[in-house]
Amino acid sequence: MHELSIVLSIVDIAEQQVALNDAQSVEEIELEIGQLAGVEWDALDFAWEAATKHTVLEKSSRKLTIIDGKARCLECGQGFSAPTLFTECPSCGSFFSDLLSGKELRVKSLTLI
Ligand SMILES: [Zn+2]
Repeated sequence: MHELSIVLSIVDIAEQQVALNDAQSVEEIELEIGQLAGVEWDALDFAWEAATKHTVLEKSSRKLTIIDGKARCLECGQGFSAPTLFTECPSCGSFFSDLLSGKELRVKSLTLI
């Protein structure tokens, strides 16, 4: 499951930061995940529950910022919001576009205790 490996790598990052900073655990973690990163939110919650048990993230509160997909048309240069990877340009109907945002998958901040 894709989401499980995401959570496991987040746990890794958190464990490393706790060790580096001589902290005990993580009070709060902020994640930024793009709408087009291919993450299923239910699966992410499920994986989170399972994979953070007995780790520094077990009791942390999780803030999740979802970043909207945005693209720019390669034909006419129009910027538009792209809820899927195959969103057509609203101005000229082209499917050729550059994705500007929406594939993010990162830990934005960790509050250690
Ligand atoms: Zn266009």
